[in-house]
Amino acid sequence: MKHWAKIAVAASLLFAGAAHAQTQTGFAAPVESSIQSVLPRMIAWRRDFHEHPELSYEEVRTARIVAAHLRSLRMEVRTGVAQTGVVGVLRGGRPGPVIALRADMDALPVTEEGELPFRSRARGTYNDQDVGIMHACGHDTHVAILMAAASVLAARREEIAGTIIFVFQPSEEGAPPGQMGGARRMLAENVFGDLQPEAIYGLHAWPAASGTVTMVSGPFMAGSDRLDITVTGSQTHGAQPHAGIDPIVASSQIINALQTVPSRQMDAVRSPVIVTIGSIHGGVRYNIIPQTVEMQGTIRYLNPETRDELYERIRRTITETAAATGATAEVTITENAIPTVNPPALMARTRAAAVRALGEERVLTGLPVMPAEDFAYFQQAVPGVFFFYGVNPPGVTPEEAAPNHNPRFFVHEPAMETALRAMVAVALDRVSE
Ligand SMILES: [Zn+2]
Ligand SMILES: [Zn+2]
Repeated sequence: MKHWAKIAVAASLLFAGAAHAQTQTGFAAPVESSIQSVLPRMIAWRRDFHEHPELSYEEVRTARIVAAHLRSLRMEVRTGVAQTGVVGVLRGGRPGPVIALRADMDALPVTEEGELPFRSRARGTYNDQDVGIMHACGHDTHVAILMAAASVLAARREEIAGTIIFVFQPSEEGAPPGQMGGARRMLAENVFGDLQPEAIYGLHAWPAASGTVTMVSGPFMAGSDRLDITVTGSQTHGAQPHAGIDPIVASSQIINALQTVPSRQMDAVRSPVIVTIGSIHGGVRYNIIPQTVEMQGTIRYLNPETRDELYERIRRTITETAAATGATAEVTITENAIPTVNPPALMARTRAAAVRALGEERVLTGLPVMPAEDFAYFQQAVPGVFFFYGVNPPGVTPEEAAPNHNPRFFVHEPAMETALRAMVAVALDRVSE
C-alpha cells in the first residue's frame, strides 16, 4: 500500500492524478499534447528509415539523422560509439536518478516483398553476397519511437528530476564474424560515460495485437550460441567402409543424439533448450566416404544458471557419440547472446507505469520466446526491462502475421503510438518528483 501511495504522489506532477486514472490517456495535459504533436513526425521518420535501411555497423545515415535530432533537442550527443552508435544525454531541471532508454538501428539482408509505398529497394553486400536490405525486424520503428520519446521528454526538461540517456545501438542482429555485437561493444566503449543508470528500458516490435504491449517477468528471450562441429573419420571407398571410418554415419548419430540434450538430459521445465543443426556439409562423390563432415547449428536456452551444464552435456554428447563410431569430433561453441531476463521487482514497477498510461487491458503478460536479443548485455550492466509492442493490423492473428525477419514482416503504424506511450510512461515513472 505504501509503495502504491508513493507512486501516486510521485506521478501527480507528470501523470494525471488518481482521480483521472480512468481518463483516456493517463498523461498530464502538457505531456499528452507533446505526444500528439510528435506523432506525425514519428511516422515520417519511420517511413524514411524503412525506405533507407542499413546493415549492422553500416547505420551511417540513420545515425546522422538521430544525432541531428538529439542536438536539435539541446542534448549532449556522442557519435561513433561502437562505430555507428549515438548517445544523447538529457539532463533534467531537478536532481534525480539516471535512467537509459535503448533502441537498435540495424536492418537485415532480406529483400522486401509487399507493396508499401516506402518499401526498401536498398541493396548491399553481406557475407560477400549481393543482398536486398530490409528492416524486417522493425528496428526502423524502434529508432523512430525513441526519437519521438526524446522529443516528448525534452519538452518537459525543467520538470524532469534526473537524467535520461538515449542509446541508439548499432548491430543488434549479429556482428560480422569475429566482431562484437552492438550492445557489448557499446558497453566496452563506456556507453554511459561517467553516468551510472539505475535502470534501462528497451522494446521490440512483435507480431501481437497492435495497441498492446507484452511484459514478461523473469526469463523472456533466450540465450543464443553458435555451434560448430567438425567430425573427422578416415576416407575410404564407399564399398569398403570397414577400411576407414565414416564421418557421415557418425554425424547422423550425433544429430540424433543432440536431440536427447533438451528431451532427456536437461530439466524441461527449469531449463528449456533447443539445439538445431542448420547446416551439414561433407563429401564430394557418391562412392567415396569422406574424411570430414562440417556441421553448424544454434543453441537456445532460457536459464542462465544452467548454461555451463548445458555446454558440458552438448560437448560430451558430440564427442562420445563420435568416439563410439571411431571418429573424432571437434566442438566450438561461440556466445552470441545471453538470455534476456527481466528482474521481477523492476518488471512489476514497469508494468504498473504502463498500466497507468495504457490501461490494464493493453498490458499483456505472456510466455518467454526463444529468439535472442543483445539487450541482455545491458541488463548485465544495469537492471533493465525489455518488452514487446504488438504490430499486427486489426483482425490479423499472431499465427497469420509474417514473423520477424520475413520479407513480408509488417508493422501496423498506429501501434507505434502505444509503444511511444509505454516508453514515455516508464521513463517518467523514474524521473518524476
Ligand atoms: Zn531481428
Ligand atoms: Zn530485432
